[in-house]
Amino acid sequence: MIGMHVLGFPRMGRNRELKWALESYWNGQSSVQHLLRTAQMLRAAAWDIQASAGCAMVTVGDFSLYDHVLDMSVRLGVVPERFGWNGGEVDLDTMFRMARGRSQPDDPKATAACAMTKWFDTNYHYIVPEFYPNQTFTLACRDLVAQVEEAVRLGYTAKVVLLGPVSYLWLGEMVSGGHRLALLPALLPIYRELLEKLAAAGAVWAQLDEPILVLDLPDAWRNALIRAYTTLRLNPLPILVASYFGPLADNLDTALALPVAGLHVDGVSDPEGLQAVARRLPSSAILSAGIIDGRNVWRADLGSILERLEPMAAALGDRLWLAPSCSLLHVPLDVTLEDHLDPEVRSWLAFAQQKLEELGVLRQALTQGPASAAEVLAECQRSLVSRRNSPRVRQPAVQRRVAAITPAMLQRVPAYPERAAAQRQALQLPVLPTTTIGSFPQTAEIRALRRDFTTGRIDQTTYEAGMKKAIAHTVAVQERLGLDVLVHGEAERNDMVEYFGEQLEGYVVTQQGWVQSYGSRCVKPPIIVGDVWRPAPMTVRWISYAQSLTTKPMKGMLTGPVTMLKWSFVRDDQPWETTAYQIALALRDEIADLEAAGVTIIQVDEPAFREALPLRHAQQEAYLRWATAAFRLATSGVAATTQIHTHMCYADFRSIIRAIAALDADVMTLEAARSQMKLLDAFARGQYPNAVGPGVYDIHSPNIPSVEEIVALLERAMAAIPVQRLWVNPDCGLKTRAWPEVEASLSHMVEAARRLRAKLAAP
Ligand code: GLN
Ligand code: ZN
Repeated sequence: MIGMHVLGFPRMGRNRELKWALESYWNGQSSVQHLLRTAQMLRAAAWDIQASAGCAMVTVGDFSLYDHVLDMSVRLGVVPERFGWNGGEVDLDTMFRMARGRSQPDDPKATAACAMTKWFDTNYHYIVPEFYPNQTFTLACRDLVAQVEEAVRLGYTAKVVLLGPVSYLWLGEMVSGGHRLALLPALLPIYRELLEKLAAAGAVWAQLDEPILVLDLPDAWRNALIRAYTTLRLNPLPILVASYFGPLADNLDTALALPVAGLHVDGVSDPEGLQAVARRLPSSAILSAGIIDGRNVWRADLGSILERLEPMAAALGDRLWLAPSCSLLHVPLDVTLEDHLDPEVRSWLAFAQQKLEELGVLRQALTQGPASAAEVLAECQRSLVSRRNSPRVRQPAVQRRVAAITPAMLQRVPAYPERAAAQRQALQLPVLPTTTIGSFPQTAEIRALRRDFTTGRIDQTTYEAGMKKAIAHTVAVQERLGLDVLVHGEAERNDMVEYFGEQLEGYVVTQQGWVQSYGSRCVKPPIIVGDVWRPAPMTVRWISYAQSLTTKPMKGMLTGPVTMLKWSFVRDDQPWETTAYQIALALRDEIADLEAAGVTIIQVDEPAFREALPLRHAQQEAYLRWATAAFRLATSGVAATTQIHTHMCYADFRSIIRAIAALDADVMTLEAARSQMKLLDAFARGQYPNAVGPGVYDIHSPNIPSVEEIVALLERAMAAIPVQRLWVNPDCGLKTRAWPEVEASLSHMVEAARRLRAKLAAP
């Protein structure tokens, strides 16, 4: 029998039960038992879904209370000293401290959390393992063994999943020098011990994820993979090594040389690679074919997948397993929850549960012949045709407009130095101008207002009055604090992408399409179903209202084309580039309207610009070309005196500094405080000619920076960048913070700028 399985399943639950259970535990409002019971219930539900869909084995170990990389650190005893762990079983609160600094509000052991960063090119964040010199490993948490026991007790056959040792090391960081790979010999025995315990608990397969197989790997790391699995072969469990998020390409030989019982290959991003592995796989090994897109929400073209699978099934027989390309963590749970979505659009979509159904249909067609699934296959075909021909998808006018983009539309005139002079003249800002990144605290009151408006509990007038009150308050606070360039605070936005998705044609938004971003935080990416265009201005009313309250410049706030794409579910029927230009044209119109309404500073946020960078070098240049073009298309239609800002955060910009400069924004604000301004080196080396606002304090922490700390950071920035080109701002938006902290921090920031100005003015 051809097998089917998932690499991982969504964790949050149908009603985000995990989120609520975590947050109430962290707030000290519910017990650890409640949290653990909820987790157990969610795992049981996920296994039930898999088993009911026809998976002979359920996946155990993909569930996590916070993050699966952190889980590995805890299991392996990789707990930095500051968390005060001294051997034995690592407890839950220690794990939460590693993730978020504190486990509960008055946690006496609160300390700095471990760093968090993006999981490959997704918007999921993992907790970075911290390795120290003389790092040792030891089995320090039974959680995985307990979960296998739990599954066995419920009567399931368990395939256990864990992050492979080489990818685990790759994703970590040596805190004070040394090479991570040197840790491998000490790590492998612990993995072996763990696999033995998992086998004893009743697991029958182990899936070890090695997603680094899709990266440009140095030889040493390739060799480490071979070495690792040669050692791990001597354990009782058959191992399936899983790679995903891209083609194996030049790592194909390495993957095939691993002495393991099976390989999982991402056949969605690399159909040829899958065929190559199928041809060359050792004669006893399993091939897990990732043939359903695990990262996007479109219903699969089952007919053509079947055509590709048939020869593979004939050759491999029982050695073929069907699977989604990657863990289903990156898609929402169940499209049938979307009762507000247009039924036609809904029929085009497949979330996690529907993807399992698709696997079932494929298996049935392969094992019992296509006729046995004829009805479902025909229905699938009809849905694909309906999508292809739908007027929702194709808008000839939008396509003509994209085709008519000229090079002149991508070019701001005059060049930066001349523009900068015109803007200095027009704006009359002091040296070291102070500003913020856009959002201000999203209070419970604001969230309730938005919710009540969506559910119809309050009418438009009440809603608008409430929003205006929030905006007026935000403006008044900024005036009182003495900021130079103000913002309206983004109170009306649930999310910086979904807000625009709701207003642009070609986008649909879901009610329950939540995807985990980090810990208990979920996002609800909108779905781009068709050509994108802007039926009406989106932000002008709010910004104009805010501007009417002050004589200081009010920044217009928009989300850039790359971020609008990257944080949505994108179309799979046209290149990203084309969709990016469509969004850019809509933004270009919005910017023109803002300008016409008298807004002279407009910020186009691109926090996902770095995240969207392809994992492989070979594809990066092409991406940077169109991503830059899209930004420039959005922002180049303005007068010389209109100042364009952009903002990026939480990523390493050094590798793409040239592309960032090529955006040609007048001012670029970015996260820099957390890294103590280190990344300014790149800006300083003359590679960034325009103005920069390096963040002067970390907004992820409730700590209030002192004036002196900010002055010190700014002095560091002034040493790297001429003061005429420097701005003063926090690392990122303030929406997750509370008002008292925000006011205190910003007043220190303004004071720091004043002190430095006085110093500069002194003879
Ligand atoms: N303008 C947005 C805000 O201030 C930017 C958020 C971000 O960079 N992720 O919230
Ligand atoms: Zn940011």
